[in-house]
Amino acid sequence: MNIERIGVVGAGQMGIGIAHVCAIAGYDVVMEDINPDALGKARAAIERNLQRQAARGIITPNDVAPALRRIRTANDFEVMRDRDLVIEAATEDEQVKRAVYRDLCPRLGVNTMLASNTSSISITRLAAATDRPEKFIGLHFMNPAPVMQLVEIIRGIATDDETYHAAVELVKKTGKTSAQSEDFPAFIVNRILLPMINEAVYTLYEGVGSVEAIDTAMRLGANHPMGPLQLADFIGLDTALSVMQVLYEGLADSKYRPCPLLVKYVEAGWLGRKAGRGFYDYRGEKPVPTR
Ligand code: NAD
Repeated sequence: MNIERIGVVGAGQMGIGIAHVCAIAGYDVVMEDINPDALGKARAAIERNLQRQAARGIITPNDVAPALRRIRTANDFEVMRDRDLVIEAATEDEQVKRAVYRDLCPRLGVNTMLASNTSSISITRLAAATDRPEKFIGLHFMNPAPVMQLVEIIRGIATDDETYHAAVELVKKTGKTSAQSEDFPAFIVNRILLPMINEAVYTLYEGVGSVEAIDTAMRLGANHPMGPLQLADFIGLDTALSVMQVLYEGLADSKYRPCPLLVKYVEAGWLGRKAGRGFYDYRGEKPVPTR
């Protein structure tokens, strides 16, 4: 299966990064989002990120304009008709993703592959909500996609070999490395990473340490490049909570129960960087801990 034209559904933090990575790798990209504001911001963000990569010598200044020309935006699924692969990167909510597939699938060519960038939801179950479970696969880019080296590839029970090999080839063409994960809740990276973040929130909730103390402790004491609460803000607290709920329900083990303080932040709309406030407040010049 030869992939040349890619569609990206959802122009949030991940959709932006995936479109960027695919355009730099030479693919023709169309991005769609239900929210026109997100699409407007997406183009500007991709341009800024490409310029930043050029300034750092990761790509050449001559790569920027052609990559931008390869990305179009739209806010309906008609533009997905001629795509070889559509990567869904909409909100981490199973009902949202199901609604996307219901409207998207009738507009796709019979051979179009469909991938989800979900952080945690069963690929087999998502695939079963489409008309093409054999052409459905998990392609889990990490955040930020242009920077992070790994893409997890998750086969659903019905995913055929052709789709799997096409996904492996795509990851190679983007210059990234893939790791295959079996289809269990949150796959490999988030099965390990999110319980650690959730535990950091419990540590804050129980008053063991302040936001600053917890992040400093893990940066300097465990040599993590960023603290777990800083990382949670970066991921998005709604996404982090969703992943914990999937682990808790999917594995039926109380060790995965989401911390009530994480729930409270999400209820407040303090979703992390993308909302301007989470465990840190980003609205001033420097991030300030909120606890
Ligand atoms: P986000 O909140 O930044 O963006 C989600 C986007 O989806 C929004 O722009 C929203 O308008 C759009 N959307 C919602 N409903 C839609 C619909 N019906 N049709 C089209 N667009 C719709 O979220 P994100 O962080 O970009 O996460 C997107 C996906 O990527 C999720 O499945 C998430 O689990 C996964 N993911 C996130 C991270 C991370 O660190 N944030 C890392 C890897 C994977």
